[in-house]
Amino acid sequence: MKTDVLIVGSGCSGLYCAMNLPRDKQILIITKSDLESNDSFLAQGGMCVLKSKEDYQSYFEDTLKAGHYENDKKSVEIMIKNSPDVLADLISYGADFQKDRAGNLIYTKEGAHTHPRIVYHEDVTGREITSTLLHKVKELDNVTFLEYTTLVDLICENNCCYGGVVRTKDGKIQSIEADHTVLATGGIGGLYKHSTNFKHLTGDSLAIALKHGIELEHVDYIQIHPTTLYSDKPEDRSFLISESVRGEGAKLYDKNGHRFVDELLPRDLLTQKIHEQMEKDGTDYVWEDLRTIPEEELKNHFPNIIEHCKQMGYDVFKECIPVVPAQHYFMGGIKVNHESHTSMEHLYAVGETACNGVHGRNRLASNSLLESLVFAKRAAGEIANCKVHLYHEPIDIDKEAYIDLENKYRELVLTEIERQSHKYVRSSNIGA
Ligand SMILES: Cc1cc2nc3c(=O)[nH]c(=O)nc-3n(C[C@H](O)[C@H](O)[C@H](O)COP(=O)(O)OP(=O)(O)OC[C@H]3O[C@@H](n4cnc5c(N)ncnc54)[C@H](O)[C@@H]3O)c2cc1C
Repeated sequence: MKTDVLIVGSGCSGLYCAMNLPRDKQILIITKSDLESNDSFLAQGGMCVLKSKEDYQSYFEDTLKAGHYENDKKSVEIMIKNSPDVLADLISYGADFQKDRAGNLIYTKEGAHTHPRIVYHEDVTGREITSTLLHKVKELDNVTFLEYTTLVDLICENNCCYGGVVRTKDGKIQSIEADHTVLATGGIGGLYKHSTNFKHLTGDSLAIALKHGIELEHVDYIQIHPTTLYSDKPEDRSFLISESVRGEGAKLYDKNGHRFVDELLPRDLLTQKIHEQMEKDGTDYVWEDLRTIPEEELKNHFPNIIEHCKQMGYDVFKECIPVVPAQHYFMGGIKVNHESHTSMEHLYAVGETACNGVHGRNRLASNSLLESLVFAKRAAGEIANCKVHLYHEPIDIDKEAYIDLENKYRELVLTEIERQSHKYVRSSNIGA
């Protein structure tokens, strides 16, 4: 197979990249699962935007402070300054965000934000954004989708990428040549027992990058979300109790029903406090009280969370819910420049799998959808400007090399993360 651009992943970053590529380029989007099974569909809280020029310094400072000032400042500037454009694109495609009666956007707040600056659609913002993008990309004649098709390797030589090797739905291994390859494969939550991510997101791109000496950055920067619904039953993935719930006033209690922490601390610090409290109390969770949110606001803003808790046996209008931290987000990844270009020619990485340094050591809530979109558009811009067509001799694929690949790749990524030894990673959570 041959295409102009191969995009690996059908989350918001892969789709938005496709939307921004020229219509005369043939684009192939492959995904390991079905088109809608990706973390972009799960995002609850919302997407940050620069709502006015006056908020720029404060937004910039909040992002840096949450990231422990290890952020790439240029990336932060690019992300914030491009946010109004991205929002305008999404609205023009038909995405719907909460508005007041006069038709003005309403902004919500989450932990470590000085001001409300997050646009949202109930508590299913990711689904609203990503289903809108998917609908628009499906309308494009130059885009083909292949579901249940997994990238298992890159075709590369002399540090130049010529496309990918994939395993198709019926188990065949085949090559796809491309002038440009975009890795949009999301996070690494599938490597964990307890994670909010889809199980099939196992950092495959990272393993492939390690195999070919493509530069990675900060693979030990892994975000643990402070509040997921505790369950003593085995689950596919941990259910997130969005940070915007705390932004709107929810409180956290110890086993005796006493507040023990500022609920709006940055995620890493709050996670640490919750772990300490659980240890002190000898419990597997702490309590979260949503009754401190005005009832109307709770009903209108968080219908999905209310419903899920109900299914799990909790009435959030009458009682507290048990919450526990779980793996959530990957700040590190494949090292890219401000145009999302990796250290290998003709290879790009966008979204959660990429690291342009925007989040530093800890991501500020609701910066991920935005970052994924802003830098996917920049990758598309650079690809559009490149007129080079690549040719590679047909490759002889060693099919034996791809047997038991999942375990080999999992081991490769875990070993690298362990080597960088992040303190949370060495917990019993790893190794799903
Ligand atoms: C529960 C939850 C709530 C969140 N809430 C928010 C929020 O409110 N605001 C915010 O900004 N962020 C939020 N996030 C984070 C945000 O949703 C993600 O970081 C973002 O959507 C990542 O987008 P992506 O396109 O990089 O990856 P994804 O949307 O995860 O897509 C990855 C794609 O890659 C494919 N793939 C993976 N490996 C392969 C392979 N080997 N071959 C082929 N395809 C492959 C997958 O099938 C999938 O299609 C949340 C995340 C979760 C899990």
